[in-house]
Amino acid sequence: RNESAATLVSMGTIDVVRGDITRQEVDIIVTAANESLLGGGGVDGAIHRAAGPRLAEAGAELAPCLPGQAVATPAFDLAPVKHVIHTVGPVWEGGGQGEDEVLTSCYVRSLRLARELGARSIAFPAISTGIYGFPADRAARIAVAAVRSQPVIEQIRLVAFDQETFDALTRSL
Ligand code: ADP
Repeated sequence: RNESAATLVSMGTIDVVRGDITRQEVDIIVTAANESLLGGGGVDGAIHRAAGPRLAEAGAELAPCLPGQAVATPAFDLAPVKHVIHTVGPVWEGGGQGEDEVLTSCYVRSLRLARELGARSIAFPAISTGIYGFPADRAARIAVAAVRSQPVIEQIRLVAFDQETFDALTRSL
């Protein structure tokens, strides 16, 4: 019997949903930030709008956040969400610049930080697959492998904003 597989099944449930991450009822929402943590476009812009201006103020105190790192702030107006974890994904440069490892690190470090914060549920966007150009299928395989390797949170949700991302994530899962 494979003990580690049994542990994975019992400790972490991973689900994939299509929707807006700012509408998820979870303890922690992860944002695909940039190094300044001041807010940007895409999902980060949506999260900053929903959390209010205090999110950028809190981010500024923790910046810069380098690619593959993750930091936590309160979630402010996103309550009852408790924290936003800001992680900076890799910019896709063809795949030969360590992009896979940096993307893995985003998921792994976010989950470990969420664990330290006592979270029971967490929602991730498809980090790096928008403005940063990471191919959706490859990013989905990395996301699923990374969260499976860290079954430290009871409920892990991968949120797809579009159908292509949803299909890529469900295939990987
Ligand atoms: P990055 O700069 O890391 O590529 P983006 O925000 O440009 O980040 O895109 C990351 C992913 O987030 C893309 O799949 C994009 O479609 C998705 N996205 C954009 N807005 C939202 C949202 N409100 N909820 C969930 N995902 C979103």
